[in-house]
Amino acid sequence: MPQADLVILGGGSGSYACALRAAELGKSVILIDADKLGGTCLHRGCIPTKALLHAAEVADSTRESEAFGVNATFEGIDMPQVNKYRDGVVGRLYKGLQGLIKSRGVTLVEGYGRMIGPKTIEVNGEQYTGENLVLATGSYAKTIPGLEISGCIMTSDQALTLDYVPAKVIVLGGGVIGVEFASVWKSFGSEVTIIEGLPHLVPNEDEACSKALERAFKKRGIDFSLGVRFASATQSDSGVQVTLEDGKTYDADLLLVAVGRGPKTDGMGYEEQGVAMDRGWVLVDERLHTNLPGVYAVGDITPGLQLAHRGFQHGIFVAEEIGGLDPMPIPDVNIPRVTYCEPEVASVGLTEAEAIEQHGKDAITSYEYNLGGNGKSQILATAGFIKLVQLTDGPVIGVHMVGSRMGEQIGEAQLIVNWEAHPSDVATLLHAHPTQNEAMGEAHLALAGKPLHAHS
Ligand SMILES: Cc1cc2nc3c(=O)[nH]c(=O)nc-3n(C[C@H](O)[C@H](O)[C@H](O)COP(=O)(O)OP(=O)(O)OC[C@H]3O[C@@H](n4cnc5c(N)ncnc54)[C@H](O)[C@@H]3O)c2cc1C
Repeated sequence: MPQADLVILGGGSGSYACALRAAELGKSVILIDADKLGGTCLHRGCIPTKALLHAAEVADSTRESEAFGVNATFEGIDMPQVNKYRDGVVGRLYKGLQGLIKSRGVTLVEGYGRMIGPKTIEVNGEQYTGENLVLATGSYAKTIPGLEISGCIMTSDQALTLDYVPAKVIVLGGGVIGVEFASVWKSFGSEVTIIEGLPHLVPNEDEACSKALERAFKKRGIDFSLGVRFASATQSDSGVQVTLEDGKTYDADLLLVAVGRGPKTDGMGYEEQGVAMDRGWVLVDERLHTNLPGVYAVGDITPGLQLAHRGFQHGIFVAEEIGGLDPMPIPDVNIPRVTYCEPEVASVGLTEAEAIEQHGKDAITSYEYNLGGNGKSQILATAGFIKLVQLTDGPVIGVHMVGSRMGEQIGEAQLIVNWEAHPSDVATLLHAHPTQNEAMGEAHLALAGKPLHAHS
C-alpha cells in the first residue's frame, strides 16, 4: 500500500499549493486528482475568464479608439480565435504546473478518490495512506431547485466552452461570476440583462462600490433587475424565457445560472469516516484541522470565501502546520477580493456597514478619494474611487475600490489592512506619479489630515 507524509485529495489551488510547500519542507506527498491538475481556477475559473475579460477590454479599446485619436474599426468577435488565445494561456500554465509538481518530487495519481479509512484514500482499487490527509475536492456550480442545467440554460462551465457570441443573454445572479460574464458578453456585443434577487449587484461589497458598479453598467448598456427573485425559466426552440416573482418576463438566447458554488464532497466517504460536516461543507477550526486527528481541509470545501488565493494560502498553511512551523492564520475578512468586470471592483477588510455594526458609528471614519483627481485614471478615461474605512484615530480596517484596472491596487491595500497601518504611516510613503496607485496615497494623505489633489 503506497504511503506518504501527506496524501492530498484534489488537484486544485488549495491542494497543489499544499503539495509544493510540503515538498519544499522535505515531506513526501501523494496528490490525487480525478481531472486536470490545476482544478477549477486554471481550467474553468480564474484564468480562462480573465483571458475572456482581456479580449473584452481589447474589443472596447478598439471601439473607443477614435476618442484617443487612433483610427481603428471594430469588426466583431472571432470566438474560435478568442478561445484559441484563452486555451493557449491555460495550456502554458498547465504545462508549467505539471513541471513544478514533477520537479518537486510530488507523486501524482490520476483517478477518482474516496476516503475509506481515517487517513486512507482509495483510487482505482489501490489504497493510499498518509501520515496526514488533506481534503481539497473543491466546489461545483450550483443551480436553483427545479432549474435544470441543459441546452441554453448553463453554468460558467458550459458558458466557457461557447464558440459563438449569444445575441441576447440573461445572467441569473449579480455576484462576482455573474457580473464578470455580463461584462464580457456586453463587450463582445450581446444584449445583457442581469437578474439579482438582492437589492444590489455584487451584494457582498461595500454599498458604495455596488452603486458605482450599477451606474457604470447602466452607462455601458448592461440592464439589470434588482430586488425581485427568479420564479421560473422555460426553454423552447427559440431560446429561454425567465419569469420573476413579480410576474415580469425576460426572453433571451441563453440563460447563465450564476447563483453560487457548493462544496464538492458528495459520495466521497467523508461523512462515513466521521468527518464533521455541515450541509456538505467540511468543518475546520482556524488552523484548518477537521475534527479527525491528522485530517485537514483546504479551499472551497471549507465554509467561507471561494477564492483561489485563499486556497493557495490554506494549502501553504497546512503544509507549514504539519511541518511544525506554527504559521499565522489569516481571517477571511482580510483576504483581498477582486471582481474583474469593467470597471473592476476590489476590496479588503470590513465594509463601512460591517465596521459600524462591529465598532459603532462613532468609532468609524470613512473617506472616498475620487479618481477624477488622479492623472492616470484621467488618461485611461475611467471613473471611480478608493474608499477607506478607518477606526477613528486608529488603523485602516477596510479598503474598497472601483475603476478600470483598480484590481491592481489590491496588493498595497491588503498590506495596509493586514499590517494594521494608520493613514499617517501610509501618508509618509511615496506613490509614483502618474499611476493609479497614487490614488491610494492621496486617500491616506487626506485621512491623515494633509490632502493634496483632493477637493473637499
Ligand atoms: C468562473 C469562475 C471564475 C473564478 N474566478 C476567480 C478569480 O478570478 N479569482 C479567484 O481567486 N478565484 C476565482 N474563482 C474561484 C477559484 O477557482 C476557486 O476558489 C479555486 O479553484 C478553489 O480551489 P480548490 O483547490 O479548493 O478547488 P478546485 O480548484 O475546485 O479543485 C478541486 C480538485 O479536486 C478534484 N476532485 C474533486 N473530487 C475528487 C475526487 N473524489 N477524487 C479526485 N479528485 C477530485 C477536481 O478534479 C479538482 O481538480 C473562480 C471560479 C469560477 C468558477
